[in-house]
Amino acid sequence: EQQKWGALKDKQTVSADGRRFEVAANVGTFADIIDAQEEGAEGIGLLRTEFLYMNRDELPSEEQQFLAYKRFVSAMNQQRVVARTLDIGGDKQLGMVKLAHEDNPYLGFRAIRIGLARPEILRPQLRALLRSSVYGRLAIMFPMIATIEEFQQARAILDEEKERLVRAGYQVAKNIEVGMMLEIPAVAVMAEHFAKYVDFFSIGSNDLVQYLLAVDRGNQQVAYLYQELHPAVLRMVKQVIEAAHAEGKWVGMCGEMASNPLAVPLLMAMGLDEFSMSSSQILRVRSLIHQLSTRKLQPLVHRAINAETTAEVQKLVREYVPELK
Ligand code: PEP
Ligand code: MG
Repeated sequence: EQQKWGALKDKQTVSADGRRFEVAANVGTFADIIDAQEEGAEGIGLLRTEFLYMNRDELPSEEQQFLAYKRFVSAMNQQRVVARTLDIGGDKQLGMVKLAHEDNPYLGFRAIRIGLARPEILRPQLRALLRSSVYGRLAIMFPMIATIEEFQQARAILDEEKERLVRAGYQVAKNIEVGMMLEIPAVAVMAEHFAKYVDFFSIGSNDLVQYLLAVDRGNQQVAYLYQELHPAVLRMVKQVIEAAHAEGKWVGMCGEMASNPLAVPLLMAMGLDEFSMSSSQILRVRSLIHQLSTRKLQPLVHRAINAETTAEVQKLVREYVPELK
């Protein structure tokens, strides 16, 4: 079976009815890039930049970050690398960025909220990313965007740093895509408006499910309520994809749901453009996509979003997709 998947590695990911998908890798260290390439990743859908900040006493300099990003971007050649700006707070803490104790850290000072409040962290990171953009195909995304203003502010800072770099004589790629993580239900509800401002969405299902169902993603006691296949989640994802496509924008997903075998048939039938996951899952997902027809799965999508329970959705997917056995 490994051998059969191996044959998929150098081909594009196309469904049985000819729809093209991109299956990309989530990476957090340079070693992950090697895995991603060996496992047939068609790009990097999520570069978690937190690793550069870990196990250190001070913030990494612009130069240190530039060298690291350049290495990722050039290693992937002309395949897209979607870098996410620093996503700390919530469950992720750093020694050198002191954050006050919060009663509800997942609802508190995290991700882009920290970036906008602490430009001395965000600006050097953006400059380093911009400088690395000429070595391959870089895209940049901001985590945990909740409002249009936040995206506009982050984007304005990015544009400002770009202008400064160009004035100082640095090369910066012209075609850098700028997008956002879609992790907050309010954003999904308002997706048609956000879609006008972004180049792409990447759905962070880990957080989106947590916030939509009000279930702490790390709390074992309520894990039974953490349901990626809940009809409410499916409706939300479908709405986001439709809103983005209506504006000509692409949508990826980089949470665990993107490699959930029961979710993949639904997501491809809804038209999700990019699936990003840990490298060990890539060939399995690519193989599944090759076997399935998005057209034939349309009745499944219709029934799943109209189901009453997650159990019902799971049963429907198993019925419609015998290939999962
Ligand atoms: C997500 O929320 O789905 C995601 C990919 O981000 P993280 O898991 O790093 O919060
Ligand atoms: Mg997240």
